[in-house]
Amino acid sequence: MSTVLRFVQHRIISHPRGEVTVSAQCLDGDCGWSALPNPDVASVDVECMAHTGRTGHPTFARRYEDVALVERVGE
Ligand SMILES: [Zn+2]
Repeated sequence: MSTVLRFVQHRIISHPRGEVTVSAQCLDGDCGWSALPNPDVASVDVECMAHTGRTGHPTFARRYEDVALVERVGE
C-alpha cells in the first residue's frame, strides 16, 4: 500500500462575505475593560476615548480580526 502526495497550490484571502471586526482591551493594571468586537472602527475608538475620559487609562490593545478563506489555485 502506498500513498501518493501531490503538491497542490493554495492561496489564503479574507472571506468575501466576512467582515473585519475590531476589539480593544484596556492595558491598565487589572482594569479588565474591553470594547466588544465591532465592524465600526470609529465606534471602538470612541469607546476607548470615553473609557480614558472616565478612568484616565490611556493604553489599549486593539485586535483586528477577519475570516480567512483558503482556496485551491487553478480550480
Ligand atoms: Zn481601563
